[in-house]
Amino acid sequence: MSKFTKDYMITMKDIVKEGAPILRKVVDEVQMPPTEEDKEELMCMLQFLKNSQNPEIAKKHHLRAGVGLSANQIGLNKQMFAVYIQSEQEELAYTLFNPKIVSHSVSMTYLPSGEGCLSVEREVPGYVPRYERIKVKAFDINGEEVVIRLKGYTAIVFQHEMDHLNGIMFYDHINKENPFKLPENTDIQSLY
Ligand SMILES: [Zn+2]
Repeated sequence: MSKFTKDYMITMKDIVKEGAPILRKVVDEVQMPPTEEDKEELMCMLQFLKNSQNPEIAKKHHLRAGVGLSANQIGLNKQMFAVYIQSEQEELAYTLFNPKIVSHSVSMTYLPSGEGCLSVEREVPGYVPRYERIKVKAFDINGEEVVIRLKGYTAIVFQHEMDHLNGIMFYDHINKENPFKLPENTDIQSLY
């Protein structure tokens, strides 16, 4: 068993930082159905995101707030990630195995404030172009195949996490000459 069981609390020391080879490889698919170990690791990852967004817990354990975490960010060579997004309107929680984008919009979007990453301990300014809408096929925590349609912010977060599983960092998408230059001949609009 890995240490990431349901009783384990992930903190920043568990987060793999940029430069580590596991963040630059295409990680392995998880055989379905998932094992108890796979499931516990994934639930542990989701709990970290919830903790990181809880002001008291985050302060006490020095957690940086995160909305997504992929398994290779805690050193696991597995195609799985957790996403937790809380707003006044809703609470979205995803724990997925082997996610794939099966289709996407032509139109693109980006966060005007740029993106950040738990594995990157510095500000990286610039626009990160993302598909505005995506359709994702994956397996849920019980190993059931699911098809999820996403748009806007949630779609951006999913693309950031799926990139991790393919060894891609968000700044790979930023224009090298001018970080605030958007791709040409592309229908792309700021998210807000
Ligand atoms: Zn990241």
